[in-house]
Amino acid sequence: MKRQEIKEILQSEAIGDTVKVNGWVRTKRESKNVNFINLNDGTVLDNLQIVADVNIFGNEILRKVNTGAALSVVGELVESQGQQNVELIAKEIEVIGEADPDKYPLQPKRHSLEFLREIAHLRYRTNTFSAIARVRHSMIFAVHKFFTEKGFFNIHTPIITSSDAEGAGEMFQVSTLDMENPPRKEDGSIDYSEDFFGKKTNLTVSGQLEGELAALALSKIYTFGPTFRAENSNTSRHLAEFWMIEPEMAFCDLNDNMDLAEEFLKYLINYALENCQTDLKFLSQRQQQEEKNKPQDQRSMELIEKLKFVADNDFVRLTYTEAISILQNSKPAQKGKFKYPVEGFGTDLQSEHERYLVEKHFKKPVILIDYPANIKAFYMKVNEDDKTVAAMDVLFPQIGEIIGGSQREERYDVLVEKMEAMDIPLEEMNWYLDTRRYGSVPHSGFGLGFERLITFVTGMTNIRDVIPFPRSPKNCEF
Ligand code: ATP
Ligand code: MN
Repeated sequence: MKRQEIKEILQSEAIGDTVKVNGWVRTKRESKNVNFINLNDGTVLDNLQIVADVNIFGNEILRKVNTGAALSVVGELVESQGQQNVELIAKEIEVIGEADPDKYPLQPKRHSLEFLREIAHLRYRTNTFSAIARVRHSMIFAVHKFFTEKGFFNIHTPIITSSDAEGAGEMFQVSTLDMENPPRKEDGSIDYSEDFFGKKTNLTVSGQLEGELAALALSKIYTFGPTFRAENSNTSRHLAEFWMIEPEMAFCDLNDNMDLAEEFLKYLINYALENCQTDLKFLSQRQQQEEKNKPQDQRSMELIEKLKFVADNDFVRLTYTEAISILQNSKPAQKGKFKYPVEGFGTDLQSEHERYLVEKHFKKPVILIDYPANIKAFYMKVNEDDKTVAAMDVLFPQIGEIIGGSQREERYDVLVEKMEAMDIPLEEMNWYLDTRRYGSVPHSGFGLGFERLITFVTGMTNIRDVIPFPRSPKNCEF
């Protein structure tokens, strides 16, 4: 008999049908004559309740039916008064894989997220992490759908790269040299000409520079790939390995870029609202449960309400300089409540400042533009004031920066001057400069941190809970 998935069964509610289901036991409740088994196969949040008659199956089988065990059950679907409208009266039960109830780490109770992080290899088997996994999948699909509908091409940019122009000391080196005993040049330095690629190589921190090459031929491209940053920031917003989506568009200025970023984020959120209802409802309840002991004014907006709010409202757009003045005049600044003081033009905004603007001042997502040139990357277009660059950061509640982007400097001379000033090796970047030598055009793009998006959409508070196997300083399990 062919197996049916629980999602399908709960949707069809085909009373009277005989079906076969496979899955893992979440809970078992024993009463005198029957056992109630909650079976989950991951296709949907909800469990299917199996009713097993003790007289038919006996202790021989039922004692192996424990939380975590894998079962295959054939039975008849009947109407139910329980959580679902249908349940399964078991006719055959096969225990496919046992789980020793004394050793299985996931007990049928609420576990803390910290504990689940320690057993991340099993956390898919919880409601929270299976819900996140399904939402994550939907968001991956929606990213490709959005760009495909708009005529963008997906480009695979390299993961191993020899350019460290962007990395600024935050890169993971890739090498096959013997670290204990590397080949050395006469001056004692390591001889990378003997390394695998004949030069020093790293894991990529962004696919942008290569993305630009493609955009300046294909018009509209996007990348969606893994990104690696060895920044030593042990925060709830940073991972050492994360996924980034980077669209890049030719013939596109900063305004078009902002429009696309806003439309994109709203599209993704609406997609989640339409396609992930069951999981979002659950995640919303989870969040409320977790926050129930917090004072009222520190609780988050209800998850679905929050998502609708962002999808339905225009983002605020303002310049960095305007933001600095709002921040300097703010209550926390005047009472000395910011950990990092806002000195004035040139201050690099911290997450606390970004969140103040979004959560307290505007109460809406904010797009900040025109940052001081010296706190931003070399490739950003210099504005007419010669002080600022055409950068944009999209700031979200709870997250802070979710997108960072810019219009790129397309003028060869300006770019070269900037690179020299910032000590970017021109020779190594010759390939990049070729785009400015031949048929250069105004172009723009941005990077969306995929896990920051998922953090926002799921209402989780720690980015390590929205990627299955998080990598962060001193942590690379599994
Ligand atoms: P932040 O200031 O928050 O560290 P950034 O300015 O270094 O971010 P960008 O280089 O602009 O980030 O990267 C684009 C996007 O990638 C960011 O807006 C963010 O969503 C995401 N991102 C950056 N660093 C990380 C990280 N370590 N872990 C997860 N996402 C990240
Ligand atoms: Mn940024």
